[in-house]
Amino acid sequence: MKVGIIGAGLAGLAAGLELADRGHEVEVLERRPWAGGATYSFLDDETGDEVDNGQHLFMECTTAYRAFLERLGTLHLTYRQERLRVPVFDADGRRSDLWSSNLPLGLHLAPALLRYRHLSWRQKIEIARAFLALRLLQVHERGRLEQITFEQWLRERKQSPDTIREFWDFLVIPTLNCRAGEASASQSIFVLEEGFQKDPRAAALAVPAAGLSKLHVEPAIRAIEERGGTVSMRTAIECIQVEEGRVAGLVLGDGERRGFDACVSALAPWRLLPLLPEQVRVDRPFVDLTRFEPAPILNLHLWFDRPVLDLHCASFIRSEVQWAFNRSRLGGEDETQRQRLVLSISAPGDLFALSQEQVCERVLPQLRRALPASREATLVRYRVTKEPEATFVPAPGLFRPGPRTPLPNFFLAGSYTDTGWPATMESAVRSGLAAAAAVDASSA
Ligand SMILES: Cc1cc2nc3c(=O)[nH]c(=O)nc-3n(C[C@H](O)[C@H](O)[C@H](O)COP(=O)(O)OP(=O)(O)OC[C@H]3O[C@@H](n4cnc5c(N)ncnc54)[C@H](O)[C@@H]3O)c2cc1C
Repeated sequence: MKVGIIGAGLAGLAAGLELADRGHEVEVLERRPWAGGATYSFLDDETGDEVDNGQHLFMECTTAYRAFLERLGTLHLTYRQERLRVPVFDADGRRSDLWSSNLPLGLHLAPALLRYRHLSWRQKIEIARAFLALRLLQVHERGRLEQITFEQWLRERKQSPDTIREFWDFLVIPTLNCRAGEASASQSIFVLEEGFQKDPRAAALAVPAAGLSKLHVEPAIRAIEERGGTVSMRTAIECIQVEEGRVAGLVLGDGERRGFDACVSALAPWRLLPLLPEQVRVDRPFVDLTRFEPAPILNLHLWFDRPVLDLHCASFIRSEVQWAFNRSRLGGEDETQRQRLVLSISAPGDLFALSQEQVCERVLPQLRRALPASREATLVRYRVTKEPEATFVPAPGLFRPGPRTPLPNFFLAGSYTDTGWPATMESAVRSGLAAAAAVDASSA
């Protein structure tokens, strides 16, 4: 079959590769001059360093994304922990780690929690109680989790506001890009179960050691092209034409219309909706897409004249810094003369509207306070990358569609679709594979 895929983000690339592998003629159409969507890298004009649009992190339990890298032959370009270990610094630079021990599942986090100095005993008892409630969660309770926020669920489990802020938000913000008060209980609990309740190694962290374009974007394009497919940049779809209950063609900016046997939308929901004819938009599942809201992420890239962080990465509590990644160490560079850090700030709130200078002025002093080694170091360069549509807000009551639609030759992919996972690379890859399987099945 001739298949048109709209959007060359991870979902579109994963769908494209899978379909090309299954023998279909694939054309991926991308609006921007580059591919990768929410995941790409570019060269910093001053240093020549490869800079990501935003730091990405994945975990051992994200099996589809890991398998995708293996398929592309680039898994070795990542730094992967054997077991979870997160160094956590408080605002004044006191360090205490969270880690996964060798104890059996269920107890594997207990030693870390017992020794964790950033929380009081009262908070630790509250947390242990909530983890126990998670383990005992009954099937009949799960339906309700879709309709309430995680904060509501936590309050019902007697979690106090400071425990929610200093522990649960600490987990939820970087994984869901919103606070416990905005995320649905089901999405939050999904992440906790995948990360902490299935396998003691599941939450081990993995970080790209190369730029995202080198890691998966360029290799995926090459792999699609080697299988006879094409990936065209600067090819924005302006309109999806529907005639007699099927997609009849994709209309480009210059009015050109391209016809395909099947089409896959690998767009964010708020990008897809305006391309559809009004009479189609009112039908399910398209009408449900109006409820998806984009959420931003901000990254502050810092170049210091000396080492300031003797770790691959670190996280921060009671600070706006959240997470710091030592790009120099991850990239295997000499760190003695300079060190490049990336601070990743999810759910950035009012920081997002500030200028680069204002962001640096506000965040850098917090980093210097929390990382004593950075106090003496000179900041040689900085830049801010902002992604206004980084993820969707996993709010209660969202309906996430599967790959099939009422239009028999039109399929959905994208991290927002019904993969179970939040807006992640894992979800994007899973969605691409699911859409490809659905297209393939429709040709049988
Ligand atoms: C800064 C940042 C940090 C993140 N951190 C993490 C992390 O640590 N771990 C993790 O797993 N995930 C993270 N994510 C989320 C993850 O990157 C996304 O969930 C995932 O990449 C989304 O992929 P997608 O293919 O579904 O959508 P997208 O990447 O949005 O792809 C959609 C593509 O469609 C194109 N397009 C739009 N309109 C048109 C049109 N009309 N015609 C043609 N093409 C069009 C877009 O240009 C884009 O290339 C992060 C995202 C950002 C931005």
